[in-house]
Amino acid sequence: MPDPRFHLDDPITEGAQLRLGALDSRHVGTVLRLGIGASVRIFNARDGEWRADIDAKDRNGIGVRVRGLLRPARPSPDLDLLFAPVKRDATDLIVEKATELGVRRLRPIITMRTITETVRADRLAAITRGAAAQTERFDIPEILPAQPLAKALDGWDAKRPLVFADEAGDDANSAWGGEHGRAPPLLASLRDLRPQALAVLIGPEGGFDTSERRLLRALPHVIAVSLGPRILRAETAAIAALALVQAAWGDWS
Ligand code: SAH
Repeated sequence: MPDPRFHLDDPITEGAQLRLGALDSRHVGTVLRLGIGASVRIFNARDGEWRADIDAKDRNGIGVRVRGLLRPARPSPDLDLLFAPVKRDATDLIVEKATELGVRRLRPIITMRTITETVRADRLAAITRGAAAQTERFDIPEILPAQPLAKALDGWDAKRPLVFADEAGDDANSAWGGEHGRAPPLLASLRDLRPQALAVLIGPEGGFDTSERRLLRALPHVIAVSLGPRILRAETAAIAALALVQAAWGDWS
């Protein structure tokens, strides 16, 4: 097992004496049960990943002494996930998996059919911290405040194409809008595209309203895509879309 890994906001330099955060300190004491002298890894997006030894364990938490640099930091792809908050467990899953899959920014988006409008930022932040530490990345995804869809689209940076996961067709009288007007597959749409930055948009349990789909499809920087002939749950759609985007455009290639 590699040494456990903890994120530290403080600058990390050789020989520095630093303190783990409160949650991490508790984890070291009660779950990992590490004592003085145990070797750990600490990291952040600026200074990279360092070896450190536990050199203090007291009421104020865990102190570490920084030894040497293990890996310089590498940035995550400039990839945003815009997602409609869904039920609590599913939202937690989206946030954890998006962190593992390398998303740089998480943007909760309130759409017409979004049923869960409250986003527990502290809870989601704890999930991203844990997943980032576990998944060996250097940065922790930023979580932006929840925003209505129209607001997010207002003043959108045209240099960041928005990959819109659109499951429906255009026929108002058929289930899922029928076959007519279905978006092309994601991989085909990304094949010739090499932007510096990208965003993915996933809808809520109930999907997007027709007016939202019309609005999105009319925008020049929006790329409507299909994730295949099955209707996926929002959390599955997020994971599938991010995997495809990472393989076609991001740092999996
Ligand atoms: N419209 C459905 C299901 C929505 S699925 C309903 O009314 O219940 C939730 C979200 O996942 C969708 O808004 C879409 O962004 C994404 N999604 C699911 N399956 C998809 C597919 N086959 N292609 C593209 N996006 C999909």
